[in-house]
Amino acid sequence: MPVQTEFSLIQQYFSALTEPREDVLLGIGDDCALLANPANYLLAVSVDTLVEGVHFLADVDPYRLGHKALAVNLSDLAAMGARPAWFTLALSLPQVDAAWLSAFSKGLGDLARQHQIQLVGGDTTRGPLTITIQVHGHVLPQHSLQRAAAQVGDWICVTGTLGDAAAGLDIKRGQLTSEVLSVEDLAFLVDRLECPTPRIQLGQQLAGRAHAAIDISDGLLADLQHILIASKVGACLDLNTIPLSKSLQQLPQAAARQYALTGGDDYELCFTAPAEIAAAFCQRAPDLFRRIGEIIERPGMFSQQADGQLTPLNTDKAGYDHFA
Ligand code: ADP
Ligand code: MG
Repeated sequence: MPVQTEFSLIQQYFSALTEPREDVLLGIGDDCALLANPANYLLAVSVDTLVEGVHFLADVDPYRLGHKALAVNLSDLAAMGARPAWFTLALSLPQVDAAWLSAFSKGLGDLARQHQIQLVGGDTTRGPLTITIQVHGHVLPQHSLQRAAAQVGDWICVTGTLGDAAAGLDIKRGQLTSEVLSVEDLAFLVDRLECPTPRIQLGQQLAGRAHAAIDISDGLLADLQHILIASKVGACLDLNTIPLSKSLQQLPQAAARQYALTGGDDYELCFTAPAEIAAAFCQRAPDLFRRIGEIIERPGMFSQQADGQLTPLNTDKAGYDHFA
């Protein structure tokens, strides 16, 4: 892009997008940002790329895209128990479209201000529409929620409801229509796909209390599997307890359950915690925290039948693999 266009574009849409933080000594405009890390905290860093046609459809509302690009990154901080601080934005644009940039940056900025995270730098290039955001957050060493920390006897819990975003995607693809769901349910499910809520506050509550956590981006089974492998344990799930939204419950049970087990993009948290601690969370906020099973010694993932028998769960097709 011509120097002037690129510079004025950054000035116009990104320089003053977020609230200034005291720990940003130098933000957008120099070769690097200069950031002051608080004493005793670890820096938690994560990056995610959204590619048109892979992660979002070309016709998606740019305000929602700005929201989602940051939300999926904040979700990683939430799953680590970290507090958001700063982010950078690498943007590849096919052309400069003022209306698009204005809506995109507003969606991004509105969510950033909600979480007091500041945009401190980035890169702007011409090319196929691609959005890369790197987030930085802070967490005390003993509070981080690592995948390898699940212990036998832990309850396995999830936040919110699962499967909504995957149903939302099928709605966008025209595979679920108003013949099966009301207009309100269709809108709710598409909102869950396009406007996910990063569980930052819940992650903060779990930090230092839960053992392991992961955010559900690829599907419950696929993401829980990461915890199990890293922790060298297994899981026994009660499929009847998996939380489903009222909208998803309008579908036949098998379909709803399939979305909830293997559908991605919900950005809820799956965590494991000692029974007493997990029970306290579930009791205090049953709509937000739900027990879905328990960590067991035997490797693998099982569902428990009414007679106590363990049936292996098929995880072959769980989750989305970009290179499969
Ligand atoms: P350099 O050539 O030194 O990498 P750039 O011209 O790429 O600098 O960027 C100038 C300044 O604007 C830098 O501080 C950079 O971090 C910032 N910047 C560039 N693109 C973006 C963007 N999309 N969002 C936020 N900051 C950006
Ligand atoms: Mg640059």
